[in-house]
Amino acid sequence: NGRGAGGLQHPRWVRINTLKTNLEKELSSTFAGYEKTTDLRQVMSVPPPTKLYFLDPHIPNLLALPPRIDLSRTTAYTSGRIIFQDKASCFPAYLLDPKPEDGDVVDGCAAPGNKTTHLAAILVERAAQEGAVGSHLDVIAFERDRLRTKTLEKMIKLASADKVVSIKGASDFLNANPNAQEFENVGAILLDPSCSGTGIVGRDDALTIHLPEMNPTANGNTKSAHGKKRKRDGEEKAAAQSSVPLQLELDDSVEEESPAEDQLTERLTALATFQLRILTHAMKFPNARKITYSTCSIHFEENEDVVFQALSSPIAKQHGWRILQREEQVSGMKDWPRRGVFNVENSDITAEFTPDERKDVLEACIRCDKATEDGTMGFFVAAFSRDKDAIQKPS
Ligand code: SAM
Repeated sequence: NGRGAGGLQHPRWVRINTLKTNLEKELSSTFAGYEKTTDLRQVMSVPPPTKLYFLDPHIPNLLALPPRIDLSRTTAYTSGRIIFQDKASCFPAYLLDPKPEDGDVVDGCAAPGNKTTHLAAILVERAAQEGAVGSHLDVIAFERDRLRTKTLEKMIKLASADKVVSIKGASDFLNANPNAQEFENVGAILLDPSCSGTGIVGRDDALTIHLPEMNPTANGNTKSAHGKKRKRDGEEKAAAQSSVPLQLELDDSVEEESPAEDQLTERLTALATFQLRILTHAMKFPNARKITYSTCSIHFEENEDVVFQALSSPIAKQHGWRILQREEQVSGMKDWPRRGVFNVENSDITAEFTPDERKDVLEACIRCDKATEDGTMGFFVAAFSRDKDAIQKPS
């Protein structure tokens, strides 16, 4: 149930797609007649007030609106000028802070593409600010799943990110050779791998978003081709929550999915093993200087523990990777109050870090809690960094 304290409901988060428009233009067209509020709780109130918007103080170009305001039939939405994207889901690209001088940017787990288009928008905006218009910008988007690649392609096109994004469709990021020539300019990597999806806000908050032209099988529909209900795994739910132009309808299968505790532990172990693999794979790209790792999971095992394990891995040590400290993070992210948590019982890495080191890492980790006055889904993100002199030539 997404109703938090005091009869609040999850807001509708809307990211203004600066590849196509800008905040001022949308405020005076799509949101003409909307009143501005500086109190997020007002837009989250039940019963919902009328036309109100809240301009987010942490993420640029992000608005919160009362959840029942239906924008799905506006041309702003159907033409990709606005994108429905939870605030938490905007953290990774913003925290990665890609700049034209960083070189190529990789999105390792891209579909349906919300973070990919956000990366592209930030890069293009940065290039304009730096007077580097026309400079070569490339976001390389990997997606393993064939059907989800189709959704990704549509999303990239709709958002006008296709000039900047090259899609490696039906392509496993783990099979990408970090030392291949085509990746020699990769300087920044965003990783948002499949996860348990336990941070996703419950069905009471689910809104049905319609966009014609979308492939029903690729868009989070919970019925199989034979009409038989199948369980969606975390990554599908994650994608649905990312609020692309998708039909988002949470159904009974959500409840059916609550596994017994030992099943959950088993599942978390399997997911964390995969997540750590993907993160340490990214650490092998010879010229990468920054990585973000995110999940929409609430579990320590998929979040802080993966970060601790990655930092203490031989690969991180060999390649000189460290956590991006809180004070080094972009404004908005360093001001965000919810930070990492530690679960001693579920971790065997305590011996690797002194209490001070552990504290610093947790302080660097960013969490979002669902069903709070923040109005976000449950989410986790951390960034890694390495200094130029830590970069080694591949041996
Ligand atoms: N970042 C996306 C967004 O914000 O719209 C959501 C990503 S979703 C949580 C994870 C995606 O990663 C899924 O589409 C899944 O198919 C893909 N994936 C999982 N493992 C992968 C791998 N090894 N290589 C490439 N894609 C992968």
